[in-house]
Amino acid sequence: SPIIVWFRNDLRIADNPALSVAAKSVAPVIPLYIYDRNLRYAPGGASRWWLHESLSVLNDRLKNIGSKLILRSGDETDIIRKLIKETNASAVYWNRRYYKSEVDTDKKLKSALSDAGINVETFNASLLREPWEIETGSGTPYRVFTPFWKKLKEAGPNRVKILPEPKKLKSPKNISSENLKEWQLQPTNPDWAEGIAGQWKPGETEAMNRLNEFLDDEIDSYSEGRDRPDKEFTSRLSPYLHFGEISPNQIWNAVKLGIDADAFSQSAGYKFLSELAWREFSYSLLYYNPSLPKKPLRKEFTSFPWRKDTKALWKWQRGETGYPIVDAGMRQLWQTGWMHNRVRMIVASFLIKDLLIPWQQGASWFLDTLVDADLANNSAGWQWVAGSGADASPFFRIFNPVTQGEKFDPHGDYVREFVPELKDLPDKYIHSPWKAPEHVLQEAGITLGNNYNKPIVDHAEARDRALAGYNEIKGK
Ligand code: FAD
Repeated sequence: SPIIVWFRNDLRIADNPALSVAAKSVAPVIPLYIYDRNLRYAPGGASRWWLHESLSVLNDRLKNIGSKLILRSGDETDIIRKLIKETNASAVYWNRRYYKSEVDTDKKLKSALSDAGINVETFNASLLREPWEIETGSGTPYRVFTPFWKKLKEAGPNRVKILPEPKKLKSPKNISSENLKEWQLQPTNPDWAEGIAGQWKPGETEAMNRLNEFLDDEIDSYSEGRDRPDKEFTSRLSPYLHFGEISPNQIWNAVKLGIDADAFSQSAGYKFLSELAWREFSYSLLYYNPSLPKKPLRKEFTSFPWRKDTKALWKWQRGETGYPIVDAGMRQLWQTGWMHNRVRMIVASFLIKDLLIPWQQGASWFLDTLVDADLANNSAGWQWVAGSGADASPFFRIFNPVTQGEKFDPHGDYVREFVPELKDLPDKYIHSPWKAPEHVLQEAGITLGNNYNKPIVDHAEARDRALAGYNEIKGK
């Protein structure tokens, strides 16, 4: 009788342990995906766009090996139970998830199914190491990144070998599937996803192409160039990693290929893999602190004197703050579903410290608009900037949006791409248009307050206000 392989954040057929083990058995395999709209953190708009494409590619890949993806929507547990009845399946395999409510669902289901004589097997497909495998000497989770990374790099990934794609999958015919289109994951009217579709091609093959391009062309510049939003020096693998179209194992192996252990820390890939380790660290934080998406890890931040300012939040979301680097970032996010890491830090700092708006509101906007929206990385990223997280940047380190822009987008190319109304401003004023003399603004066709905003806050004043707020909670 058949084995159900339940796909979740592992939408690939290569290096997929649950699928690989099932494919080796003599039993037929039923590949399943469940869409549960009622999950606490169901995917946001941009993620739904990606999910649709990704499921469609996965289905094509399964068809190529003689199978197809069965789609069902509703409560995960109910669907698994029903499908077992319907198909007489004797086993369910899946790769693990790490957010508490998902872990709870999986644990409960595993124990109920096991009691009913169904064989459940679970695997690690999304992390180099399970959170409980990288712990301090006293068996507690790490709260500081550097020793975490040290331990992780010494341990290396869980599986040394990459699992090949199954060549053929025996699957039962006539199992009904819902129609992907009917899930309405993608926008129709207005189609706000055009910019995203122009930029991204989801799926496993594209993920591999991207990795190979990055290794051929960009990895050597990564250490120095990764902070430059005006250049393409980072891998842009984040959405592929989030949906599991590529595994961190595949990346680790490809990067380390041919490098001796003693040359590793000097190699071009070292810094890159250490960033991949931030993803592992974030997953560990989320696993051990399920409240990470909503509550500050440092308790004193619970009583921070935040402001409620719907208008400023709205301006931030739309990229109309009057600070060019912030506006460019927010518009890159809206148009393409992605934002450069340096700029994520700048816009987050601006929301939290210049506007004093709670980081949770920024985090939820990101979850809705990023194609790589990821509960672990996003929550950890926002808490890092807010200074309320584990191993976070201290609150009093407040980014100046002008000097950050001048340092990391020195010629203003990034700003000009996403804030085209400023494109004719000279480099000198591109990050601070309000400092430009009137005739310079006129020549560039800019009237401040008309076709480009004046700054919505004065950074120096906002900085003092933020520090005063911080003083109220410091040491609590
Ligand atoms: P690369 O530099 O090429 O790195 C390779 C991979 O390593 C990334 O794809 C990512 O999986 C991982 N990685 C790199 N930097 C980090 C980091 N700081 N934290 C965790 N993982 C990292 N990343 C997400 O995947 N989803 C999010 O929702 C998300 N939200 C963020 C919110 C804020 C406020 C901040 C400051 C960062 C956030 N990040 C998030 C982390 C980081 O910005 C992105 O992972 C990175 O920009 C993706 O681009 P890349 O694939 O080119 O990265």
